[in-house]
Parts: sequence; structure tokens; C-alpha cells
Amino acid sequence: MTALATERKPRLFTVEVNTTYCKGCEICVQVCPKNVLAMNDRLKANVVNLKDCTGCLNCEIYCPDFAINVEEVEANA
Ligand code: SF4
Ligand code: SF4
Repeated sequence: MTALATERKPRLFTVEVNTTYCKGCEICVQVCPKNVLAMNDRLKANVVNLKDCTGCLNCEIYCPDFAINVEEVEANA
């Protein structure tokens, strides 16, 4: 098997939680397939495992309070 000339770099994302808007419903934690989010002791969503984020946008779409923003980080050439 021949090695590919270029390797595909993993896509990276930022996940930001607006804790003013977050009401602690935990929906984002439940819909994240990669366990990127968890509730903290103030009952706010918290990013705990950013490296596994696939950018699926479930958390952003399902948050009823528009408290999550997911963005892809542009890779440096
Ligand atoms: S879904 Fe939105 S409001 Fe609910 S815990 Fe997550 S960030 Fe907070
Ligand atoms: S974008 Fe998808 S993988 Fe990333 S934190 Fe949100 S639900 Fe999880």
C-alpha cells in the first residue's frame, strides 16, 4: 500500500459557552457525541475535552438559550 503524499490534518474547533445565557439545562452535555461538555459546580456547561470536538454543531443547535458558539479554527498553511 502506497503512503499518501499529504496527510489530512485533523480539523480543530473552538467551543465557547456564554455562561450568562446558560441556564444549566444540560441538553448540550446530552447531545454531544464526544463528551466535550460537562456541567460545572455552578451548573453551567463547561468545555472539558475540546480536542475530541468534531464540530458536529449539536450543542449549538440544541441549546435553547443560544449560549454555545462553535467555530472551526483555520489551520495555518
Ligand atoms: S444547552 Fe445551553 S443552556 Fe443548556 S446547559 Fe448547555 S449551554 Fe447551558
Ligand atoms: S460541536 Fe459536536 S462534538 Fe463539538 S462540543 Fe458540540 S456537540 Fe460536542
